Amino acid sequence: MNERERGERDYIGFATLPEQVHRKSVKRGFDFTLMVVGESGLGKSTLINSLFLGDLYKNRKISDVQDRIEKTTTIEKKTMEIEERGVKLRLTIVDTPGFGDAINCEDSWRVCSAYVDEQFRQYFTDESGLNRRHMQDNRVHCCLYFVPPWAHSLRQVDLEMMRRLHRKVNIVVVIAKADSLTAAEVKRLKTRILNDLEEHQIQVYQFPECDSDEDEEFKQQDRELKAAAPFAVVSSDTVLEVGGKRVRGRQYPWGIVDVENPRHSDFTKLRTMLISTHMQDLKDVTQDVHYENFRAQCISQISQHAMRERGKLKRDSMGNNTDVVFTDTDRLLLQKDEEIRRMQDMLTQMQEKLKASDKKHDSIIDV
Ligand code: GDP
Repeated sequence: MNERERGERDYIGFATLPEQVHRKSVKRGFDFTLMVVGESGLGKSTLINSLFLGDLYKNRKISDVQDRIEKTTTIEKKTMEIEERGVKLRLTIVDTPGFGDAINCEDSWRVCSAYVDEQFRQYFTDESGLNRRHMQDNRVHCCLYFVPPWAHSLRQVDLEMMRRLHRKVNIVVVIAKADSLTAAEVKRLKTRILNDLEEHQIQVYQFPECDSDEDEEFKQQDRELKAAAPFAVVSSDTVLEVGGKRVRGRQYPWGIVDVENPRHSDFTKLRTMLISTHMQDLKDVTQDVHYENFRAQCISQISQHAMRERGKLKRDSMGNNTDVVFTDTDRLLLQKDEEIRRMQDMLTQMQEKLKASDKKHDSIIDV
């Protein structure tokens, strides 16, 4: 028997598992939901169009000043199906058009936070239902938080908003319209934002540690991405011709800002991170940390409610018949308690693991 025949005989076949998984997920397609938060005029829609090479906002109505003063924050959701080399992505952009424009910001915070909760609740309900095969994942996987270039650091309004969101969603901070800042100003603003986040204990999205077996090129890219956050971006809807090449850019009397040029802005780094390298990690953190947190709270509430109901039932029945024993209810409660205990153990383990990998996401989990 030659080498090849022996090889084929010893071949069981599970080496094709990655291909099977790949084929299945390609067929099913991917969901990704991105929330954009920041006041009007900061370039949110332009950035989204630049990132996904689309025109999601062509039918947009720009509200006038009176509208903005009176307006409460309303959520606008846009979905588009994109296909690239046979891979389908169902991209949903959740825009919060009135954020920060109204005099009372409390409304903005409440609406954004309630939207994120509502998607978790819907997913929790679907997951507990009978037909789980065709569940749609509308949970918010990432929130792009826009800081204006004229801010000197994070403002009170930013801190309040982030405080309400950081335990529910992956926040990625971007400095908008960075072409209006000098390189030194960008550097200063980035440092101040990072200091503010630390001082106020706001946990924005933490990049995972790069595996040691990755190639050097990938490791270098990972280092550059981490060093660039918070990303100072420039975006544009206009395509210009520069040196025979067509680029998205902004034409000024003194020259052109090329959106994709890394010396002009962090736009390409943000796009790489969000789409090419960390989209799946953003989804994993949403599932493993933020959603598990929500789910544990839900189960705990259900269990407490059941306990109260049981107590009530027992009290009522004791009045009539002291011999009644609620064995089924007791069993159900024990099961629920056991499930909560298991989830809490799981979360603690996860917390330990995350702590070990460079304190990643540790304080996000709040059991
Ligand atoms: P949104 O209200 O936050 O969605 O803001 P828009 O995307 O509608 O942009 C508002 C204005 O800012 C438009 O005139 C854009 O052309 C302009 N704009 C968008 N991005 C940038 C940028 O990076 N730099 C500069 N200077 N202007 C920008």
